[in-house]
Amino acid sequence: MSNHVLTVAYIAASVLFILSLGGLANQETAKRGNVYGIAGMAIAFVATAASTAVSGSGYGVLAAAGVPAVIIGAIVASRVAMTAMPELVAILHSFVGLAAVLVGVASYLQPDHNLVGVEATIHQLEIYIGVFIGAVTFTGSVVAFGKLRALITSKAVLLPGRHGLNIALLVGTIALGVPFMSAEGTAGLVPLMGMTAIASVLGIHLVVAIGGADMPVVISILNSYSGWAAAAAGFMLSNDLLIITGALVGSSGAILSYIMCKAMNRSFISVILGGFGTSGGKTAKAAEGTATATTLEETVESLDAADSVIIVPGYGMAVAQAQHAVAEITKILRDRGKQVRFGIHPVAGRLPGHMNVLLAEANVPYDIVLEMEEINDDFPETDVVLVIGANDTVNPSALEDPDSPIAGMPVLEVWKARNVIVLKRSLSPGYAGVPNPLFYKDNTQMLYGDARANVNGILSQLTATEATSTLVPAAVG
Ligand code: NDP
Repeated sequence: MSNHVLTVAYIAASVLFILSLGGLANQETAKRGNVYGIAGMAIAFVATAASTAVSGSGYGVLAAAGVPAVIIGAIVASRVAMTAMPELVAILHSFVGLAAVLVGVASYLQPDHNLVGVEATIHQLEIYIGVFIGAVTFTGSVVAFGKLRALITSKAVLLPGRHGLNIALLVGTIALGVPFMSAEGTAGLVPLMGMTAIASVLGIHLVVAIGGADMPVVISILNSYSGWAAAAAGFMLSNDLLIITGALVGSSGAILSYIMCKAMNRSFISVILGGFGTSGGKTAKAAEGTATATTLEETVESLDAADSVIIVPGYGMAVAQAQHAVAEITKILRDRGKQVRFGIHPVAGRLPGHMNVLLAEANVPYDIVLEMEEINDDFPETDVVLVIGANDTVNPSALEDPDSPIAGMPVLEVWKARNVIVLKRSLSPGYAGVPNPLFYKDNTQMLYGDARANVNGILSQLTATEATSTLVPAAVG
């Protein structure tokens, strides 16, 4: 393939990637966005494989690496549960980081002799920076994977003098850059490897210092880092498409991290510096009082009597896979003239957009699925709120207890509604490990048990009353 055709293919793929990101911003267009992304990646792959850089001797190597990768990727992606998606994303980010390190080392060992003077110096710098970002992304993502998979503690591990340690590691990185940049030929390999080791430690240290409840932001930041690592690899390989794609991923990941930080009332800078997600020594007050249990029958009665209902789903709905029955309940209640809407917290579940994906899969209409800030003011005028497997995202202590580890985090203010019914198995805390005073409020009732079993129970009772109400006129007639 000529270089002109390659350039056109790369521009087409870049445009498709931009359209893909635009499409993914909205539920209605998300499927189209995915199709654009797949088409862009297919064009990019075929064009790169047909380019002069690969054609000829490269196909054997490409097939040896690509075929097993495609098979493994397809199997893993088709089997992964939605609740395990953050782990998969984390480990995939680590691959991007590792690839940037390997590309950097390979391009250093096989220098492009056409580059001389300033160009050669810039190329050296690209390699150094690319390997640095790649190593931080690689080890940081592996640690994030371990935390999400519960292979290592999800608690923040805070070493004494950790900020000093981070600064020392950064200084070490810069210091090793001097012998690397001034080395002739490939003599800078030793400082390059030394820097890679230091950056790897930095990646581990930055992420172990982050508490489990803040992992969504970490995943998003690592997503951004992986984009910059890919962009750096693009510079090293003089591949424009990789630079554009990496910059798109890097900047969109950074914007998402910023949005999530705002949603959790955190400082973006403190996240980037690590050590984020600690409670600063704060401990939550134990939630006190007596929780009131309710039954399926009472829940159905409350729903029958309500004019307005808001459903707040959380991680428990995902685990229980209750979304399809929830969608059917929504349809029945709406058919009975009730206003039914969903309130979605930005970090409900285990990855951003988790609840939106589940509800879309169950064909819940998009226009009744509202973001937290769109629905939070409506709770005082709502008759019944059904909290299905959500906990931290509806915890009033975030607003009412300044000593709570989640103090300041915006939450769905469900307790302001007339009645709140919480579907979960026990009174145990959510992901952040913070007790939830919502369960003990006067207007809260607990419907204990597996969310799917209870939602199915509500559905069958609603369906039974529907059948009776349609039979009665027939019998009278
Ligand atoms: P939480 O994790 O706070 O709580 C979920 C609740 O679901 C649990 O308390 C559990 O209670 C209940 N549950 C679990 N299984 C079932 C089941 N089968 N049936 C009924 N209930 C069940 O959920 P939220 O969605 O409210 O909050 C998400 C949390 O996860 C936040 O702290 C967030 O920071 C964190 N997080 C979010 C990520 C994201 O990107 N969205 C990524 C990583 C972490 P019980 O055991 O009593 O049933």
